[in-house]
Amino acid sequence: MNTWGRSRGGLAEIIAVGSELLTPFKTDTNSLFLTAGLNELGIAVERKSLVGDDPAVLRDAVQGALRRVNLVLLSGGLGPTDDDVTRETVAALLERPLREDPALVAALAARFTARGWRMPENNRRQACVPEGAEVLENQHGTAPGLWLEQGGRVVLLLPGPPRELEPMFTNVVRKRLESRVGGGRLYRRVLKVVGRGESHVAEATQPIYDRWRQSEPKVETTILASPGLVELHLSVWSEAPATATNVLDAATAELSAALGEDLLSTDGRSLAEVVGQRLVDAGLRVGLAESCTGGLATSRLVDIPGCSRYLAGAVVAYSNDAKQRVLGVDAAMLAEHGAVSEPVAAAMAEGVRHVVAADVGLGVTGVAGPDGGSEAKPVGTVCLAVAGPGDEVSTRIYRWPGDRAMVRRMATRAVLGLLRRRLLARRG
Ligand code: ATP
Ligand code: MG
Repeated sequence: MNTWGRSRGGLAEIIAVGSELLTPFKTDTNSLFLTAGLNELGIAVERKSLVGDDPAVLRDAVQGALRRVNLVLLSGGLGPTDDDVTRETVAALLERPLREDPALVAALAARFTARGWRMPENNRRQACVPEGAEVLENQHGTAPGLWLEQGGRVVLLLPGPPRELEPMFTNVVRKRLESRVGGGRLYRRVLKVVGRGESHVAEATQPIYDRWRQSEPKVETTILASPGLVELHLSVWSEAPATATNVLDAATAELSAALGEDLLSTDGRSLAEVVGQRLVDAGLRVGLAESCTGGLATSRLVDIPGCSRYLAGAVVAYSNDAKQRVLGVDAAMLAEHGAVSEPVAAAMAEGVRHVVAADVGLGVTGVAGPDGGSEAKPVGTVCLAVAGPGDEVSTRIYRWPGDRAMVRRMATRAVLGLLRRRLLARRG
């Protein structure tokens, strides 16, 4: 049974503690990680705050959170130094005297001894436990987590470093929260869409969402757009894994029919992963000739383990001279059409295919900016080509808005997208 109030799994607040989080140099990522984990349990995050290492501000934040929600998660400030104030502040607020736990002191001392070090006196603070708190073991650091309950509310103190907090949440906290919220869970699916803008995706999917509004269990949807990629996040709250799977399968099938070939993946796979798998399935090897993307498209493929099965090699040919010498692009063609042109992109793709002995060659050449644009070829103009397998060569010309980084990212996605379409067409 759910005893956690309004939303299915209840409401939580997250308080990230650390003065560095209030500078321009450090981003709070812990709350994103925690939110994902909480949402899966059906616990909604109602509010997040960032506070510095200041006991008064922290006290105020925790006090406010305890008035509003049943679950308060704090990250950071459990370290051994004087600026780490979370443990002391929360203990004082909840009127729980701190006591040194001899077993924790021994465990801490053992961690140091194992490394041949002596434990600094400061670290004893980490062995101090507020009365009634349960200690959550930290397998990756010295600061243990703490689980406190007061008047039906739970206050959780977690270490700041993500490599300590994440396993502690996954291995210890999750299970405890799970037993609190009952058998229900949020089941998710991520659909990735390429080659269609956000509003076009929304147009195609809205009628389907409208139908879902009447269904039970309800499929909730969120749309996330980034340049060249739209993600649809579907989620279903259910107590039965099989029901959730069936509902999500049916929902995915409906969207898939509406989106056709623009649907890239339904299991979270990236464009590079999908393209890689298609190349493996087709038994083809690819080579890339990159100018303005400077190796970015190749890098996306290399991000995926096992890419040696389909990546033959790549050339970054930035100057016209390199395009001629390494890729064999004809000087007359460069003079006639300019480096940023479809014929040159095609010649680059053909060239690299030959140079690295690949079945398929990709070519990218463009004006990433901010300089180098002309009236005919303004900044953001990018030409792409796919050559092979066989004799077929196709090219595209695009003009994207945005800065240098954005143009390079769009070009990377587009050229891998072009390769995907080629492989789809070949199969179909
Ligand atoms: P330690 O024992 O390492 O001092 P701690 O619990 O006191 O642990 P903090 O001192 O607050 O944690 O943070 C330690 C490091 O963890 C920070 O320098 C920062 O790199 C990282 N960190 C802290 N809070 C966050 C956060 N909310 N998001 C991402 N990283 C964080
Ligand atoms: Mg610290």
